[in-house]
Amino acid sequence: MSGPSGDKIIYVDMTNQTAEVKDFPEEWKLLGGRALSAKILTADCDPKCDPLGPDNVLVMAPGVLSGTAAPTSGRISIGAKSPLTGGIKEANTGGQPGQHLMKLGYRAIVVKGAPSDAEARYAVEINEDGVSVTSADAHKGKWNYTLCQDLHGQYPKTASFITCGPAGEARLSGASVATTDQDNRFPARHAARGGLGAVMGSKGLKYVMVDPGRASVRQPSDRKKFGELCKTYTKDYLDGPQMFKTGTSSVVPVANMLHTFPYKNRVEGQSPDAQTLDGARIVESFETRGGEMHNCMTGCIVKCSNVVHDAQGEYKTSALEFETLTLLGANCAVASWEDVADMDRLCDEVGLDTIETGAAIAVLMDAGQLEWGDAEAMKKLIAEIPELTDRGKAIGNGAVATGKFTGHHRVPHAKGQAIPAWDPRPLKATGVTYCTSPMGADHTAGLIVNPGLQPDQFAWESQKVQIVNAVCDSSGFCQFLQPNLDNIRDFYGALYGEEFSREAIHDQGWECLADEWAFNDAAGFGASDDVMAECLSKDPINGQVFDVPADIVAAARQRMPAQDDLFEAKASG
Ligand code: SF4
Repeated sequence: MSGPSGDKIIYVDMTNQTAEVKDFPEEWKLLGGRALSAKILTADCDPKCDPLGPDNVLVMAPGVLSGTAAPTSGRISIGAKSPLTGGIKEANTGGQPGQHLMKLGYRAIVVKGAPSDAEARYAVEINEDGVSVTSADAHKGKWNYTLCQDLHGQYPKTASFITCGPAGEARLSGASVATTDQDNRFPARHAARGGLGAVMGSKGLKYVMVDPGRASVRQPSDRKKFGELCKTYTKDYLDGPQMFKTGTSSVVPVANMLHTFPYKNRVEGQSPDAQTLDGARIVESFETRGGEMHNCMTGCIVKCSNVVHDAQGEYKTSALEFETLTLLGANCAVASWEDVADMDRLCDEVGLDTIETGAAIAVLMDAGQLEWGDAEAMKKLIAEIPELTDRGKAIGNGAVATGKFTGHHRVPHAKGQAIPAWDPRPLKATGVTYCTSPMGADHTAGLIVNPGLQPDQFAWESQKVQIVNAVCDSSGFCQFLQPNLDNIRDFYGALYGEEFSREAIHDQGWECLADEWAFNDAAGFGASDDVMAECLSKDPINGQVFDVPADIVAAARQRMPAQDDLFEAKASG
């Protein structure tokens, strides 16, 4: 296959349970992942639709480079109108389905409609013979690990899966979409943010099976140049600092030092338990318990994913990330990484975003309805979410819903989505991203870990990294590889056998953001929604509140001329 020629797109109609395969438009060849999802949603989805109704559109789109030999490039984006924010949402994940879909030449799955029977469950099966929709009633209500174990017995060993846990089936706004990892063992990778699992559940879609069979790696137009790029890029990366070699959880000490390791619903920026929550403890445990650093998808050279074992040496979870240690750990005053590992596994089982769930439980604790640091009570609470108790429903629907449930005033969020670990008070440019990103408070939309920036730098720094991350999340590269725009356009050039200018790649990133903002504007968002929750502007940590003036926030949404630093800035998540 040369470039995109022969590529297809799958349209699934869940109202009638049918699937149709169409040609992928040539003019979309540079669209993948997040940008492709935005393009499809702006064309096919009514921004004013009920996010959990039949008119919402669920997109599953691998990146442009997925399925090729480019290192760490097999991410898949899940997109839809978010039931959490009410705006457009994209969340991407590793695992194998992105690689497998692209090896088969499928650039996206677009899921529309909903079955008339809300109790029915369905599966989409994709292999070398084509695409079909079948009943998945036998798997209704299964937790993700049991589901995947059963599916592995049902399908060829080469198959990978995209699954919806019970939280998604219950249409809870904190629900994630899971994918199986590179060993095809576990549903441990999640497109977690924004409640996209609830959209999948609302369509009665329990899982997607992708079996590439003997399909081979996608071949670029300029094989020689592409091969050289793969070699030099891999060598440069491996010769460099490899900052995620021991996982994202190894940033705990730095975050704590910067007052962005939030404690007790963010009333403080440092945790007294930073030492026991430090990811270094997880890496140390490998020696006595087993476990390792691994790559969640084939071709990943970063290997940031820790495989965590329990005290008996049995597999517990993967990957236990910095964000999870922060929100389910420090922010709820939990001191032990092992307790957080248990909760991470539970969230993966039920299909929940660990950031939103941890933030919601912290609100419950701050409201006096659960003891700070009571990890056992937290585990029980997460396990009761699929039973849809009143409290479980509130937590499963996220921090804002839990604020309403408890009547508590302190709910740190932007556009209805809980603030991730990185705090907008010491990191004000990151706060500008949370306010202006079409994604709401999402560190993967544009993280800037630089507390020394001056106010006149906030808007450009935020816009710059929002553009870089939008392009990265469209390419299939993982943000932890930290590619810059020049790297990505070099790979695109070799993939398609033509040159792509700096202007073209800048335009691509901007167009993705513009499509998403246009969707949100049509959904009813305005400039007055580009704000942070009041508590972050009033309650200081380390003497700082989020006090960036509205005109600086607004400037981040006005296109600025590209400077050289745009093309050299690394993706950052
Ligand atoms: S860098 Fe980490 S998250 Fe990204 S693809 Fe590799 S293992 Fe997965």
